[in-house]
Amino acid sequence: MSASHTLPKAGGLLYDEQGRIDLKSLSLPELERFTQEALGERPFRARQLWKWLWQKGARTFQEMSDLSGELRGRLAEKATIAFLEPEIILRSADGTLKYLWRLQDGQTIESVLIPDGERTTLCMSSQVGCSMGCTFCLTGDLGLRRHLKPSEIANQPLQVGRQLPEGTRITNLVLMGMGEPLHNFENLLTALRICMDDNALNYSHRRITVSTVGLTPKLRELAARLPVNLAVSLNASTEAQRREIMPITKRHSLEELLEACREIKLPAGKRITFEYVLFRDQNDSLEDAARLVKLLHGIKAKVNLIPYNENPDRDLRPPAPARVQAFQNHLMSRGMNCTVRTPRGQDISAACGQLGKAVG
Ligand code: SF4
Repeated sequence: MSASHTLPKAGGLLYDEQGRIDLKSLSLPELERFTQEALGERPFRARQLWKWLWQKGARTFQEMSDLSGELRGRLAEKATIAFLEPEIILRSADGTLKYLWRLQDGQTIESVLIPDGERTTLCMSSQVGCSMGCTFCLTGDLGLRRHLKPSEIANQPLQVGRQLPEGTRITNLVLMGMGEPLHNFENLLTALRICMDDNALNYSHRRITVSTVGLTPKLRELAARLPVNLAVSLNASTEAQRREIMPITKRHSLEELLEACREIKLPAGKRITFEYVLFRDQNDSLEDAARLVKLLHGIKAKVNLIPYNENPDRDLRPPAPARVQAFQNHLMSRGMNCTVRTPRGQDISAACGQLGKAVG
């Protein structure tokens, strides 16, 4: 077992006050190590536990009927099973559901479930708040309160999935909720592996998308380590424009970001999605569209245009529909793959950039 599979150090967020470890924040190799070192058990016990935690959604060790009573007792002394309970579920007129989860330390996060025909997408959070400070985003106003643990990330699809009516299931996962996923990199990776493992949540990498504001080195690293879909929140057609609305551009320029996107070796059939929030009179002109075409030259890209979701806390407006259409037409006339995202869940503040409004 490699050094990267050593157990997290005692005292951190992964342990409670009694020194018990949060089992659902462990990767499978870490769980194997835990069963070996802390329980003196063979690796197959870890796989049994793993299935109880992630396939069957067990909330207590008592439920684990194929483990001896003695082992269940020792587990309860040394470990905990984290789960999420929704404190509030809001339903939008368009069927979108927003879940507000209260975490063990009292912090809150949100997830949004978006049914759309055959597809049901869960938009997940990766941090409490966010430190990236994108000017158009309400989550950014909170600042970063803390990173989410792997269990808190992967429990979002587990718990939402278990509450859905018979015959419905989450088909796609997107890391586009509260937080910058790549800022919480190792926890994100563990959570994604749980999401993708056949004996855990069993989502194909084709159905998982991680969105970033452009933490370029981490974007390269993610692409090298996991085959999930990549999305970049671009939102500007020049360095100056982007610097103004996305402070991360001062650390990693637009040029650096696009160079990384150009160099990433994508698996066959994959493209990088570029999200482009359209703000009236700021980045929505045909000159912007023309610059965007140039910027994305040589990248296997698709563009997702998102008319800004209006908010009384911001002095920003979406473009008129005709202007959005003209922007899309320009991109498509240059051979680009380009869609316009229909806003969902606006009436419950579940749309893009609105999460965290209700967070205490
Ligand atoms: S848009 Fe994303 S990265 Fe930017 S402040 Fe909001 S949550 Fe953070």
